[in-house]
Amino acid sequence: MSNTTNDRPNFVTHLECSKTGEHYRANEIHGLSKVGAPLLVRYDLPALSAALTPADLLGRAEDFWRYREFLPVREPENIVSLGEQMTPLLRTSRLGGGDEVFIKDEGRLPTGSFKARGLCLAVSMAKELGLHKLAIPTNGNAGAAMAAYARSAGMEAFVFCPEDTPETNIREIAMQGAKVWRVNGLITDCGKIVREGVEHTGWFDVSTLKEPYRIEGKKTMGLELAEQFGWQLPDVIFYPTGGGTGLIGMVKAFAELEAIGWIDSKRPRMVAVQASGCAPIVKAFEDGAEHAELWQDAHTVAAGIRVPAAVGDFLILRGVRETGGFATAVDDDAIMAARQEVADREGILLCPEGAATYAAYKKELASGRVRRDESVVLFNCATGLKYDMPPVTDQLDRNQPIDYSQFV
Ligand SMILES: *Cc1c(COP(=O)(O)O)cnc(C)c1O
Repeated sequence: MSNTTNDRPNFVTHLECSKTGEHYRANEIHGLSKVGAPLLVRYDLPALSAALTPADLLGRAEDFWRYREFLPVREPENIVSLGEQMTPLLRTSRLGGGDEVFIKDEGRLPTGSFKARGLCLAVSMAKELGLHKLAIPTNGNAGAAMAAYARSAGMEAFVFCPEDTPETNIREIAMQGAKVWRVNGLITDCGKIVREGVEHTGWFDVSTLKEPYRIEGKKTMGLELAEQFGWQLPDVIFYPTGGGTGLIGMVKAFAELEAIGWIDSKRPRMVAVQASGCAPIVKAFEDGAEHAELWQDAHTVAAGIRVPAAVGDFLILRGVRETGGFATAVDDDAIMAARQEVADREGILLCPEGAATYAAYKKELASGRVRRDESVVLFNCATGLKYDMPPVTDQLDRNQPIDYSQFV
């Protein structure tokens, strides 16, 4: 631990292998640990808690840098920011669920998705560690966020996505100065290209959980939720799970907050939501397995959660099990119906992955795994505007008499 400046203390002590607990030095470039597991950033939490109280946050800007003591960037000039504001918790009232059902609308973040949280930190740390050339496999939003932050930092960005990635994603990546390729495969195939390219190109692999800092950015979702709920937590969190960074990050946030005494030991039940066409975590959860098997022929309209294999699978499963949660899958039809229902009744346009969390909530209310009187947070991870919508065909000819009876 060292306080580099008075106004921006840094409390990182070391990195730790999430499998073996082995320590690694902070301030060095790292990918996975020696045994191929994600590295987690550890902090001097007693010192952090002596330096900061919840009241100190109140006067700070409403962006996620208000939690800077919980984040790894040492020097303020290394922060690469595009305006990471806190996202609203929208209370639903017309869905026919319980009274305490909130949508955390992450579509308000830069590049329109919560991938900005992770990539903001990953790129800031890349800058701090002197990296210039970044590469990423993506289902769309991560590549868009990496492109934006990398270009904002003056770095080169190389992005590889499945050829059927949502078109808006591919084009926003290209417009934001990255080199982007459509690959005839899934995100796991793109990941292989990035991994094998490291020795040929010298780029740094920013894949989910293969560098230590995206998870720290996603951790801010947990810090933000805790603060928005007055340092208590909701009963259940539904999280659309691909690589699982957000779920793992929130669990880490809650552990750190409890360690410094800002919250008690009560945890939300973490629910990993997947699509029935790609549900490796759900299968592993139901089988009682520690790791998930590669999912064959992965398909779903919810591109962001079409992830056949996750390097942090055991961390997702641990987070779900230790909080008394579960993993559940929903069909594409249910996802699209849920998206329509929330837009129509609440005026909130979800992305398909966000809609999957509402579909899962309905399913589990019916199954009894969640009760109507429980407080629930559903994650909408990206703005719905990035995704296809049903066509509109009604037309009016202004040169003909208008039949106003059709409007009643
Ligand atoms: C990446 C992504 C997810 C999954 O997030 P993870 O933390 O990687 O599991 C869900 N929805 C959208 C829109 C995404 O872009």
